[in-house]
Amino acid sequence: MRAVLILGGTAEARRVAEILGQRRLTQPSAPEPVLSLLGLTAAAAPPGVTLRRGGFGGPAGLAAEIQRLGAGAVIDATHPFAAQMPRRAREAAAAVDAPLLRLERPAWRPRLGEPWISAASLAHAAALIPPGARLFLAVGPGGAAPFRVRADRWCALRRAEASDAPFPLPHGRWVVGSPGDQASERALFSTLRVSGLVVKNSGGDRAKLDVAQDLGLTVWMIQRPARPPGGERAATVEEALVWLDALRAQGQF
Ligand code: NAP
Repeated sequence: MRAVLILGGTAEARRVAEILGQRRLTQPSAPEPVLSLLGLTAAAAPPGVTLRRGGFGGPAGLAAEIQRLGAGAVIDATHPFAAQMPRRAREAAAAVDAPLLRLERPAWRPRLGEPWISAASLAHAAALIPPGARLFLAVGPGGAAPFRVRADRWCALRRAEASDAPFPLPHGRWVVGSPGDQASERALFSTLRVSGLVVKNSGGDRAKLDVAQDLGLTVWMIQRPARPPGGERAATVEEALVWLDALRAQGQF
């Protein structure tokens, strides 16, 4: 095996790539980690890692890339809400008989006394939220569209990097930056005087949820898209590395 292809867009994807990159630097016989990003961020490649950007042109293109790289394993660590890639990765890996792992962090679960309002989709949440709400939308710029249709709510919309893009909603403003710790999320929500938080159930750090609970904000939690059952799965970076090491032990690396 010459390479491990990691389909990225998450912190977990980057962490797996970083660890395999370090291994590659100290063991030249270790496979080359190739981190694939759609290209939305300007982040540089971690040491020892080859970065590629842009779509593959569908499952056939991805299958061809797996073969071109000589990838003996594919880790699909795209976001829990990625709409297309998990299905396309399955189709492509099956076509070229490459081992595939879906790495997906566990969803958040409400703690006792956390009365989240569950919504099946962003459009569902947008329809449920009452007029006059002052919202913090932690749904990415791509999640704003369903909130465009009504002008009776104010929305702060977080994006990771600054952009010249006009604010896409009738009332509100951009917030540029990544989610922070509890102190910074508390300061942000208080300054913005929001009454509600709309968030995809991405899992991971809970700072904004804990702050929302403390401040008494209404939390509108978007449920994850359904995925077909089956396939190899990991919930953590460590589990993904165990899977890779098992392939190595079988002689694939
Ligand atoms: P998507 O619907 O699964 O992907 C749309 C298309 O983008 C795919 O069919 C593929 O094009 C290309 N693509 C996606 N991830 C790629 C990758 N890692 N490497 C190369 N091509 C990739 O995904 P999305 O929901 O639009 O999200 C786009 C990216 O942002 C994903 O990588 C995802 O992990 C990340 N992300 C998404 C969210 C979210 O809430 N959806 C949040 C944070 C990060 P081809 O078919 O041409 O190969």
